[in-house]
Amino acid sequence: MAPLRISFLIRSVYNLLPSNANLVRWGKKDHPTCPLCHGRQTTEHVLSSCKVALSQERYTWRHNRVLQELASVISTAKGQFNPPLPSFTIFTTEGGAKKWRRRSNTAST
Ligand SMILES: [Zn+2]
Repeated sequence: MAPLRISFLIRSVYNLLPSNANLVRWGKKDHPTCPLCHGRQTTEHVLSSCKVALSQERYTWRHNRVLQELASVISTAKGQFNPPLPSFTIFTTEGGAKKWRRRSNTAST
């Protein structure tokens, strides 16, 4: 994971992101007001509970961007690791004996 993403994750868990509420707490701002809904802008508010952001589908957009990133990473990893398929399948009979069948549908035991 990229260092900036790790930093964001840690700061969000420990409520150290520069939300307006934190900026007021740190003496950097006078009001903790959310510019979208004018409620109190905490980290939780920014990340998941601003009603204006919700109505504008900003959370959906962010959610979809995360999924796109995951799909991209999985697709890249899948392209790099593409193990060859076995040329046969092993079947086990009721008696426990193993039978081998080639993928070309020509049976061999
Ligand atoms: Zn808001």
